[in-house]
Amino acid sequence: MAPVVDTLRLTAEQAAALLERREISPAELREAYFEAIAERDGELHCYLRTTETAEGDGVPIALKDVISTKGVETTAGSRILAGYVPVFDATVAARVKAAGLSLLGKTNTDEFAMGSSTENSAYGPSRNPWDPTRVPGGSGGGSAAAVTAGLAPWALGSDTGGSIKQPSALCGNVGLRPTYGSVSRYGVVAFASSLDQIGPVAKTVRDVALLYSIIAGRDPLDSTTAELPEPVRLPEDDSLAGLRIGVPTELNEAEGIEPGVRDAVRRTLELAEELGAEVGECSLPRSVRYGLPCYYLIAPAEASSNLARYDGIRYGARAEGSSYQEVVERTRDEGFGDEPKRRIMLGTYALSAGYYDAYYGQAQKVRTLIIEEHREALERFDLLACPTSPTVAFPLGERADDPLAMYAADLLTIPSCLAGLPGLSIPCGLSDGLPVGLQLIGPQFGENTLFRAGHALEQALGFDTVPERWR
Ligand code: GLN
Repeated sequence: MAPVVDTLRLTAEQAAALLERREISPAELREAYFEAIAERDGELHCYLRTTETAEGDGVPIALKDVISTKGVETTAGSRILAGYVPVFDATVAARVKAAGLSLLGKTNTDEFAMGSSTENSAYGPSRNPWDPTRVPGGSGGGSAAAVTAGLAPWALGSDTGGSIKQPSALCGNVGLRPTYGSVSRYGVVAFASSLDQIGPVAKTVRDVALLYSIIAGRDPLDSTTAELPEPVRLPEDDSLAGLRIGVPTELNEAEGIEPGVRDAVRRTLELAEELGAEVGECSLPRSVRYGLPCYYLIAPAEASSNLARYDGIRYGARAEGSSYQEVVERTRDEGFGDEPKRRIMLGTYALSAGYYDAYYGQAQKVRTLIIEEHREALERFDLLACPTSPTVAFPLGERADDPLAMYAADLLTIPSCLAGLPGLSIPCGLSDGLPVGLQLIGPQFGENTLFRAGHALEQALGFDTVPERWR
């Protein structure tokens, strides 16, 4: 029997309409996704596990494997959490379930969300649907690739320094890293707590806005969350009239930005002007220069503390040993891969007595300066724009042995993450046949403005999210 729907093209909004008009049953819709998974996930490896028996009569969804799901194994891409089956749902998992969404499965991620390619997953990498010899980005490459390949209409990811925005850019779909504090992290495997955020990935800006409206808002179980100052507005207006878009020179002319990426972004900004936006230059001098080093002190420092809980006693895998000390040491030695170990060491060093002020303390001061310069730019402009990633999707293996080259993938996403600001990546063209992402950065709780601008550009660009080889 021919599939009832083409999951490569179906948006979550369209799926919801089909369900509402009873043109398709919830079971048929889920079946269509499982057929697509059977057909394409062997090649792409987006899912670490699928959940055929999950309930819910709404639009299906995939969740990154850092999000705790009651009764469904949650590994964060690490061997140390193998076999860990949470006895509770993360707040975001509970919220999507309460909205009727049904779980398709858990998606692949770099181990503990540390990476930019999913190659650090202990369970093998995911692949880019546009070109399976290339990475889908990371750490949320599984979620982003699944959405592009029609293996889920939408998904949730987590973003510490770019793990939603960058994979969306490399896979040619829409990803939102929300304002710090707008979405609960309760029940999400912690990486760097002053940076971690949960957010949606989908094929359209409207789908992203809809999913954001389901998960956002105060949660008494996460004291960093706040009530949204205004309700989420689904974008409809196709004009950018009066919108002031700032183009930070340093983020648009940084070393390492590929010419094809620069051109696609430049053309999109010209289009924004045609749609009525006022586009002007601005400067974020410290963000490119100090963003990465600042992040790679703060994030590992917080990670070294968060990852201390994996001792083999309370969660997941446990190694054999004749004493408590030996069990903990062997569990951590065998359970963690190279990247978490590297970060635990870096972070522990940066926090150690005698070095704390020079490294962690100094990084906190630099972070304050980065916050300040974003605030100044956003006093003059409603939004800032730059490429999401300096490059299009790179070949698997190309950066696997070069941590610094891997870290550079987040050069342009990290500064606004440090500043706690929301960022939306939308596909804005192709370079060498691979998608280019435009990053729009807003003020705190400025998601509605991001949605309005993103939607208007999306309509005008008419980017086809289906990879060329499947059209
Ligand atoms: N690639 C960055 C890192 O490795 C960001 C990851 C993320 O946002 N989770 O830390």
